[in-house]
Amino acid sequence: MATTMSPGALEADALEQLRGEFRGEIVEPTDDGYDDLRGVFNGMFDKRPRVILRPAGAADVIRGIGLARTSGLPLAVRSGGHSVAGFSSVDGGIVLDLRLLKAVRVDPNGKTVRAQGGVNWGELDHETQAFGLAVTGGRVTTTGVVGFTTGTGSGWLERKFGFAADNVIGADVVTADGQIVHASETENEELLWGLKGGGGNFGVVTEIEFTLGALSPIVYGGLAAFHPGKAAELARLWRDLSHENDDIGWAIASITAPPAPFVPEEWHGRRVPAVAGMIAGPHDQAEKILAPFRALGPIVDLWQPMPYTMVQALLDPGNPYGRQNYWRARNLTDLPDAAIDVWLEAAETAPSPFTAVIMLNGGGAIGKVGEDDTAISGRTSPFNFHLNGMWEDPNATDENIAWVRRVSEALAPHVAEGISLNFQTEIADDVLRESFGAKKVERLRKLKDRYDPTNVFRLNQNIAPSAG
Ligand SMILES: Cc1cc2nc3c(=O)[nH]c(=O)nc-3n(C[C@H](O)[C@H](O)[C@H](O)COP(=O)(O)OP(=O)(O)OC[C@H]3O[C@@H](n4cnc5c(N)ncnc54)[C@H](O)[C@@H]3O)c2cc1C
Repeated sequence: MATTMSPGALEADALEQLRGEFRGEIVEPTDDGYDDLRGVFNGMFDKRPRVILRPAGAADVIRGIGLARTSGLPLAVRSGGHSVAGFSSVDGGIVLDLRLLKAVRVDPNGKTVRAQGGVNWGELDHETQAFGLAVTGGRVTTTGVVGFTTGTGSGWLERKFGFAADNVIGADVVTADGQIVHASETENEELLWGLKGGGGNFGVVTEIEFTLGALSPIVYGGLAAFHPGKAAELARLWRDLSHENDDIGWAIASITAPPAPFVPEEWHGRRVPAVAGMIAGPHDQAEKILAPFRALGPIVDLWQPMPYTMVQALLDPGNPYGRQNYWRARNLTDLPDAAIDVWLEAAETAPSPFTAVIMLNGGGAIGKVGEDDTAISGRTSPFNFHLNGMWEDPNATDENIAWVRRVSEALAPHVAEGISLNFQTEIADDVLRESFGAKKVERLRKLKDRYDPTNVFRLNQNIAPSAG
């Protein structure tokens, strides 16, 4: 293990020593590939770590955490790199890049899957769907499984299977003191509770295990876009049908039509309302639910039977790495016409064509999990509202952030407690309390005191330990 050094420094001999003990890759700023490896989804966080450690297994994770502890350098944990808050990179610090940890093993009889800490949703879905099984996964394939899940894990299947976090049955976690702890329903149960929504606060998850549900590889999914003049009617229809059954996982969004061959040319680059997602039940039932939308005369209608893995990739092209992103989301108490008006106005005023203004339907299986069973709060919210501010020109940052804040304030009369921190670029203490509720923040703090009392894992939705 590296020798103890003055806080905040990384001596050359400590890195040399690590090279002799590390099975994975160690990448420094002068090495080939450094720039590709340091890049994250949100271009607002263009950071230059002192070193990128790429573990090949749990033993390397232990050594990486040890180096952070002894050097005093800040440690960022990185998998899919999708943190919109920029948690997974750090200037001058250590990035523990888990992307070499890619093993996935499905147990088709027990209906479970075990995945290593660097697996993303495209990879996990690929394996589980080979057996006609699935767990709620990200709506973009490159999102990391563990970061997504420990931050709640909201996906198209959540009303059928619950959040991803609700389906976690076990995890191997390397804690701040370099111990490997297994958390399950019979062992370190409180840690398992904290991993279900409490983020990366307690250690590095080297392996995670989920229960799986049956899901036919062909579901009824897609996206349909409409004339902007139909937006209000569309939103009300979407609201009224959203809770028909628990197979419906969909969103209504204001997006810019891409210059794709399936979009009529006159609509290229114009902002349109769209309904996207999937209906994970019988296809004739899906057709019935979609019939009133089709009666509105969509400009584009891609809804049809298609592989679940294709539905999961539908939003990938609109979410490339490297753009500037400022996101906020809120749970809503309901979706009255006044809240729909906020969505309509946001669609008209969004400063960037890449920004999406999204509403999702909640309820179903999410609401059937007990309020105290996980760290997640706000399970009864029937709808939530997402402002995914996205733009390219860094000079347009102030305007775009101001717009997201303004729209989110206009939602205030409709806001319910508890929102997934996965979707927040800014996470101050009041946002933590709004997300978890004060009682759960204190319960999480007790766990933090136990597993990370000096806050080695602080680049996350951070629960400060009692010692400060
Ligand atoms: C395009 C896009 C689409 C998204 N879609 C959804 C969605 O549909 N539903 C949803 O709920 N969220 C969604 N998110 C949010 C996303 O789930 C969170 O940002 C999540 O933290 C990303 O995980 P990651 O591994 O990709 O990110 P990273 O930036 O690599 O990691 C983020 C943080 O997660 C923690 N973490 C990651 N891996 C581990 C690990 N193995 N052990 C311990 N901690 C770890 C660390 O604290 C890390 O800093 C989306 C984000 C983007 C950018």
